[in-house]
Amino acid sequence: MIPPPKMTDSFRHKGLRKQLVETIRKKGITDLQVLQAMEKVPRHFFFDSSFLEYAYEDKPFPIGAGQTISQPYTVAFQSMLLDVKRGDRVLEIGTGSGYQACILYEMGAKVFTIERHKGLYTKTNQLLPTLGYHSVKTFFGDGYKGLPAFAPFDRILITAAAPTIPDLLINQLKPGGILVIPLGPDDIQTMTVVVKEADGGYIKSEHGAFRFVPMLKDRAK
Ligand code: SAH
Repeated sequence: MIPPPKMTDSFRHKGLRKQLVETIRKKGITDLQVLQAMEKVPRHFFFDSSFLEYAYEDKPFPIGAGQTISQPYTVAFQSMLLDVKRGDRVLEIGTGSGYQACILYEMGAKVFTIERHKGLYTKTNQLLPTLGYHSVKTFFGDGYKGLPAFAPFDRILITAAAPTIPDLLINQLKPGGILVIPLGPDDIQTMTVVVKEADGGYIKSEHGAFRFVPMLKDRAK
């Protein structure tokens, strides 16, 4: 496979990124750990070169295979709700472009991320090491099943819309662990935080309406 062309993170890109972080801060994200991670990760590295000018708008963008890189505000909001501590083992469902996974890495997490779409998995699996993200572990698989061989996790982040909380993922969460999931039908979801209790039960809280692509069953070519 041919590696992607070496990208540069110019003074202009850094400036645009600072402005984007400022926009997100003004929209209510005050978590410094999140804002600093967003200022570090060059979002344009996750775009095809012909669309670079869209990388620093606070908007979602198509990444192929009918999928999208989430809106920066949404990435920041989910990352804030996840409340990552340095060294946490974090499982992400829906690798997509890999951008969110790199944000979690910059927040100090040990990141495991699953993608069900083979083409996206392959592309991102090749891209991340070229950007220096060697220790973000990417997997091709069905996120509904999680990663039993690597469980338990301190945190689980789902970046696709699910109709219900997947039981298998709750099982792979440590007691006291947090799972963040956009819960609901395909057209609109409620951002939901699930905290697992010591007895295996859990407590839910709701954090507003969002729109994600659906979490689909099984792997796809
Ligand atoms: N986090 C991504 C954006 C995710 S878009 C980023 O930062 O770019 C949602 C992704 O979830 C898509 O790539 C989609 O293919 C994937 N997906 C949907 N259902 C899935 C499942 N069951 N298991 C793993 N990935 C899934």
